[in-house]
Amino acid sequence: MTDAFAERLLAWYDVSGRKDLPWHRERTPYRIWLSEVMLQQTQVTTVIPYFERFVARFPNVSALARAELDHVLALWTGLGYYARARNLHAAAQVIEREHRGDLPRDLDALLRLPGIGRSTAGAILAAAFDVRAPILDGNVKRVLARYHAVSGYPGSKPTADALWRHADAHTPIERVAAYTQAVMDLGALVCRRRAPDCAGCPVHDGCAAFAQGAVDRYPEPRPKRALPVRATRMFVLQDASGRCLLERRPLNGLWGGLWTLPQRDANAELATLLDELGLDSRTASATSTLPSFRHTFTHFHLDIEPVRAALAAPAPTIADVDRYRWWSSRDNEPIGLTAPAVRLLAAVGASPVAASLLAEVVGASLLAIAPEPAQ
Ligand code: SF4
Repeated sequence: MTDAFAERLLAWYDVSGRKDLPWHRERTPYRIWLSEVMLQQTQVTTVIPYFERFVARFPNVSALARAELDHVLALWTGLGYYARARNLHAAAQVIEREHRGDLPRDLDALLRLPGIGRSTAGAILAAAFDVRAPILDGNVKRVLARYHAVSGYPGSKPTADALWRHADAHTPIERVAAYTQAVMDLGALVCRRRAPDCAGCPVHDGCAAFAQGAVDRYPEPRPKRALPVRATRMFVLQDASGRCLLERRPLNGLWGGLWTLPQRDANAELATLLDELGLDSRTASATSTLPSFRHTFTHFHLDIEPVRAALAAPAPTIADVDRYRWWSSRDNEPIGLTAPAVRLLAAVGASPVAASLLAEVVGASLLAIAPEPAQ
């Protein structure tokens, strides 16, 4: 049975919904899954070029499962929330091993895969397999919180439970793929976070927030708390040919698996780092200063003080080759970089690739990317 909300939404979708996004053109479970993961926390317009590059390089689960994690992270650089890319890669390997390369058509099996939560699983089932399953992504939370005037922060369990109940009740048995896209589109195009178009909304007759004249009150924001501030030094160490020293982050934790500039305590000295690396401190000297800047994660601000230094000689070998590498964009090898590394490499002209990526992906506001979760 289709309720009035779903019926109106589907009629609206037939006329005004988005039907030509890249993941609609060839609607495979893999492409739907990838799009859903990329769309978590990220706008459609930002996702599209990332999606196109990703599927061109990894067109199916098997290709992704076989890929080097570095190459996966490289295609994610600038999108943020890197745990998504690591989970995608890990899940592809499980799917390849346990499901012969096909995404399972079963909610519990999908939920067992790394990085797939209830909403992503629902979207895969509905959009790729046409199986009735509710979704509750950010857009849908906003629509339902307003339509039913659900109070409380959607991140809290009681509010999330209430929203899931509404999501489930509205999900139709027929045309579930179209409905899933319709409710996401309504949130993105009409019931926008700011300035929703209630007059043009197909469900405004039944909308409780609209009837109360209180659309702005829903959904309630995350309870405010001041973010702690941490400080660090990042060392931009270049050899005589302009190559920069990069350090790989541990796989588990913040920026897991990405390459970044060596990062130490706020008071760390260049000489101490060189010593740690087994390099003669007399061969390096501090050069021009770079301005400090702030990178914000969901749980804290990171104030970064860059320290730039030059080595008089070509890059010396560093014993720990898994952790350190000398890198230049001329190496032509894709690697995943942290956002501050992209910024600093571009600032010292060490990376035209990074600079163009910077411009293409995030314009002038790299540091204004949505805060990353502290993973
Ligand atoms: Fe959102 Fe306004 Fe439509 Fe209610 S009437 S669902 S607040 S756009």
